[in-house]
Amino acid sequence: MAERKVLIKYYPPNFDPDRLIKNKRPKDKQDNVRMMLPMSLRCSTCGNYLYIGTKFNMRKETCLDEDYLGIRIYRFYLKCTQCYAEVTFKTDPKNSDYIVEHGGVRNYEPWRDVQAAEEALKELKENEEEGNAMKFLENKTYDSKREMDILDALDEIKHLNQKKAQVGHEEHLNEFRKRKLEEIDREQQEEGFRRKEKGFGANGNGNGMNEEMKKEKKLMGFLIKKRVHAEENKEKKEEKKKQLCNYSDDEK
Ligand SMILES: [Zn+2]
Repeated sequence: MAERKVLIKYYPPNFDPDRLIKNKRPKDKQDNVRMMLPMSLRCSTCGNYLYIGTKFNMRKETCLDEDYLGIRIYRFYLKCTQCYAEVTFKTDPKNSDYIVEHGGVRNYEPWRDVQAAEEALKELKENEEEGNAMKFLENKTYDSKREMDILDALDEIKHLNQKKAQVGHEEHLNEFRKRKLEEIDREQQEEGFRRKEKGFGANGNGNGMNEEMKKEKKLMGFLIKKRVHAEENKEKKEEKKKQLCNYSDDEK
């Protein structure tokens, strides 16, 4: 066992590393890889659709004649699942994407068109502005004006929505209290009528009920008073604020 472990590496005095035979890998060698299809495409030979995410045994090679800013471009070969025709695609580092080269057509993806159009517009603008300060200023002014217009429109929409949605939870509560009071009044009247018809005395069966209603009415009245008081206070505070503002303005 001990001879397996090389503890002392002996180099003879006439050792010349330049004379070693290098185990060189050919540059155009292809590798077998198993990978998923990065985009959906259609076979041009039989019209079969190959979907994104399908696993294939592909052959991978480096494109020797092209690169993008020093980044290597790889080409992949796969076979159609129906007709076994060869389809090739390669990487596209410029757009972080893939290009179908041969034997297939990529499915149409609308968002890619949108992206391309946006990029083309941006490039056009940059080319226009290059070395032209006036054009740059013009574009900047136009952009800021557009932004302001958008903000104005947004404000207007917000204002309109506010106008439409005037009813808040306070209004709902007030409405509820009003209705409850009205209901209590009506019930009391009805009770009175019934008592008259049946000839009940003042301390009849309905007396407890009546007291309860009175209590409820009192509570409602108290709540409304509280609400009104709070609103008055708010108004007073606002007035004070305004006065203070005016005072500070005068000082200036
Ligand atoms: Zn096919």
